[in-house]
Amino acid sequence: MRAFVIEKPLEASVTEMEKPVPGDDEIVLEVKAVGLCGTDMHIYKGEYFGTYPRIPGHEFSGVVVETGKKVRNFSVGQRVAADPNIFCESCVECQHNNQNFCLDFEAVGVSRHGAFAAYTAVPERCVFDTTGLGFTESALIEPLSCVVFGHQRIGSRLAERVLVVGAGPIGLMHTQMAKINGAASVTVVDLQEEKLELAKRLGADAVYDSAGFERAALTNHFELVIDCTGIPTVIENSVKYIKNGGTMLLFGVSPDNSAITINPYEIFKRQLTLTSSFALKKTFGLARELILQKRVAVLPLVDSRLPLEEAPSFFKKQLEGNRGMKAVFYPNGDAE
Ligand SMILES: [Zn+2]
Ligand SMILES: [Zn+2]
Repeated sequence: MRAFVIEKPLEASVTEMEKPVPGDDEIVLEVKAVGLCGTDMHIYKGEYFGTYPRIPGHEFSGVVVETGKKVRNFSVGQRVAADPNIFCESCVECQHNNQNFCLDFEAVGVSRHGAFAAYTAVPERCVFDTTGLGFTESALIEPLSCVVFGHQRIGSRLAERVLVVGAGPIGLMHTQMAKINGAASVTVVDLQEEKLELAKRLGADAVYDSAGFERAALTNHFELVIDCTGIPTVIENSVKYIKNGGTMLLFGVSPDNSAITINPYEIFKRQLTLTSSFALKKTFGLARELILQKRVAVLPLVDSRLPLEEAPSFFKKQLEGNRGMKAVFYPNGDAE
């Protein structure tokens, strides 16, 4: 089968690979759509705990083409997507319902081959039916499930003013989720005008570029601040916007070993909560439902639709910095 393979950091090509054979409890699917995520770039750059050679791709959808002999709930031809996180369900973390810290954690596209390929194999327990959804929107269930998990972590935000920092695909999913989660208003900040326009279309009540936001002087204003940039200086600068008693959700992934300076007296005096959410935990089905019920729009977040053959040049181009929204690849030709 054709697959995009990262041989080692910064060395990748589309090449012929062995088609996966399903284990007893596994499903092989023909990949129809696969989203490009920051994690794929980390693996490409050699910054992640991935091993090589690796077919990346953990945000995907497709059609079942083969099932292992113990598979009960899926049949050939069914439209599906999969939660790429394979939790062991028997280690001490899984036993305590902390599956996202699973000690024996495996992830499709990270520690085993992923979906930048014509076919990929996934355990049945990770697979979800996507009847009624298009392949492109199904490929975006995974990032939305991380966003849903973030909102589960911070709980209901009824009548609160929410600030979303960063209007990339994740920031705009948070914008929509914050509204579902009861926000009185959602304000979005970004450097790029086009992204702010899209934020407005997707429900943001106010949008600002960084200079305009500084001028607006909204210090001590937002009960909830969601950082979707992961940029340490941006996070540091955002603390002042949290209202007394408020919360900041650190959602964007910062570089490992980075640091920020926060005055602990400020955390004490203003009673701030800084929290985070790591990956997702059993939120895939919830995210699927939000897309199915048209509560969250994910298709407007896709700005590049590409064949698998363009993966090598696209990954390389991303090294210069990603200013775009979501790129989705179609390993078996165009699919909606
Ligand atoms: Zn991802
Ligand atoms: Zn486990």
